[in-house]
Amino acid sequence: MRNNKYVAIAFIDLDGFKIINDSHGHNVGDELLKKVSHQLSKVLRKGDTLSRIGGDEFVAVIDNLSTPEESDLIVSRMLESVSTTLVVEEKLLKISASIGITFYPLDNASPDQLLRHADQAMYLAKQQGKNRSHVFDIEKDVALKHRNEELKRIAQALNDQEFILYYQPKIDLRTKAVVGVEALIRWNHPDRGVLAPAMFLPVVEHDILDIEIGRWVIKTALQQSQYWFSVGYELPISVNISPLHLQHTEFVNELKEMLDEYSPFTAGSLEFEILESSALKDIELVSKVMKECSQLGIRFSIDDFGTGYSSLTYLKRLPAESLKIDQSFVRDMLIDSDDKAIIQGIIELAKIFNLKVIAEGVETPEHGELLLSLGSFIAQGYGIAKPMPQRNVVPWLINWQQSPCLVDRSVQVR
Ligand code: C2E
Ligand code: MG
Ligand code: MG
Repeated sequence: MRNNKYVAIAFIDLDGFKIINDSHGHNVGDELLKKVSHQLSKVLRKGDTLSRIGGDEFVAVIDNLSTPEESDLIVSRMLESVSTTLVVEEKLLKISASIGITFYPLDNASPDQLLRHADQAMYLAKQQGKNRSHVFDIEKDVALKHRNEELKRIAQALNDQEFILYYQPKIDLRTKAVVGVEALIRWNHPDRGVLAPAMFLPVVEHDILDIEIGRWVIKTALQQSQYWFSVGYELPISVNISPLHLQHTEFVNELKEMLDEYSPFTAGSLEFEILESSALKDIELVSKVMKECSQLGIRFSIDDFGTGYSSLTYLKRLPAESLKIDQSFVRDMLIDSDDKAIIQGIIELAKIFNLKVIAEGVETPEHGELLLSLGSFIAQGYGIAKPMPQRNVVPWLINWQQSPCLVDRSVQVR
């Protein structure tokens, strides 16, 4: 750092050394290691350091570089020097090396970490086909660390019960009767306030936490449904299920346990919303899981319908009860004739497949009227109610029963 120079830390691992050791014996292996170290040290410059740190692993410290690229030639010579045929005890042996490199101070880490980073890069060089070098990706590492920290914080939030469910009513536009509510997760963050799912669900998407959060959502919804039932409200709750969770091997078993825990469970009081895209990934598995859930009394709707592939054969094979028209089509249906046509198409499709239709994103009375005239009867949206905390639901229901009218709340839209 003082001299404004770079140091390359190169982690060298031989490819296929074990086979030589196993087939020719350890003496040959030992001799080969000596030859390799001799070869490697020949291409390094005076002042560079080469060490053998274990088995067939070497580390070269190449310092005094004006630019990181200055080491390119040395590294490629190291690769060449190892991959030439070597004569050991009259045997012609051919091996190669995989090299991982990191540059200090670009990678401003401790000596131990630098070695680990070079090692990680070497592993990638192996994965990419061996006999090559790979440079450690600092930015990717920083992003990964950041993600790990976010994951930790979210795990802690789950543990500290910072997640809550909001509920958004769904009504029948013909009778104005409330037919259920959708549970929508929120993070009640101590410093940042109530956070929407878009702020944290994408972080956990491919992580086990996604499943843990999913379990919590189902449990909480069941608890809530039982509570509402006990105070005289039969309010089916629909829960969004992530693709990973739905395809988890224990999904159905765990669900059974949860239903037992919150028994007596009334069939129809729980509904699952799954994304069209998640159903498409593994249609066999997903339709099997759906069938097993149906037997337990759980209904399914396909969420955000129209935004995926909308494959008709799949639609036939999935035992879903309803389609949820994505809000993007509903929002602009009054001004965009294409969106209106898409909605008409979905409604017709649903009729053919004997599915119900739910329109989300109903923001104004005009949306409601048009949907009704097109034959889509179940609606959800800010015009009816925004998602609300659990404690507001019963007061809202009482109020709605007294004056069930859609209000233009479009000005309040996020
Ligand atoms: P979604 O299942 O399609 O839920 C509907 C989203 O549309 C909700 O956003 C809701 O607040 C919003 N919305 C409803 N009516 C209107 C309207 O009239 N206008 C506008 N502009 N928006 C409306 P939210 O709560 O931010 O949720 C976003 C997405 O996050 C959900 O989309 C769902 O895919 C996912 N999500 C929410 N909760 C959970 C959960 O517990 N588990 C999983 N896996 N995903 C969840
Ligand atoms: Mg949904
Ligand atoms: Mg949706």
